[in-house]
Amino acid sequence: MGATVAIGPMSTVVPELLTEAWKYVIKDTELDGATLHIEQVPVRARCRECDAVTEGHDPFVRCRACDSMNLQIESGFELQITSAELADDTENASPVR
Ligand SMILES: [Zn+2]
Repeated sequence: MGATVAIGPMSTVVPELLTEAWKYVIKDTELDGATLHIEQVPVRARCRECDAVTEGHDPFVRCRACDSMNLQIESGFELQITSAELADDTENASPVR
């Protein structure tokens, strides 16, 4: 059992800290031992000058094609639970989506 969380680099969430917080939150609850999977979503931005799309796992401010800073950020701010399986028995598992 466990949960998956999608985190974008622009969300300002530090994955290591989230993992530590998770362990603390589930300690001595029925979720004790559940794993937290962190899926790191790339930043995706479209250039308003040349329409090129730049992607990266670190925040960036310039278009890779033309070096413009006139970017429309399309993703990278994510902080969302993408799946959660909170039961050991797969037959009775109730995935939350
Ligand atoms: Zn550009």
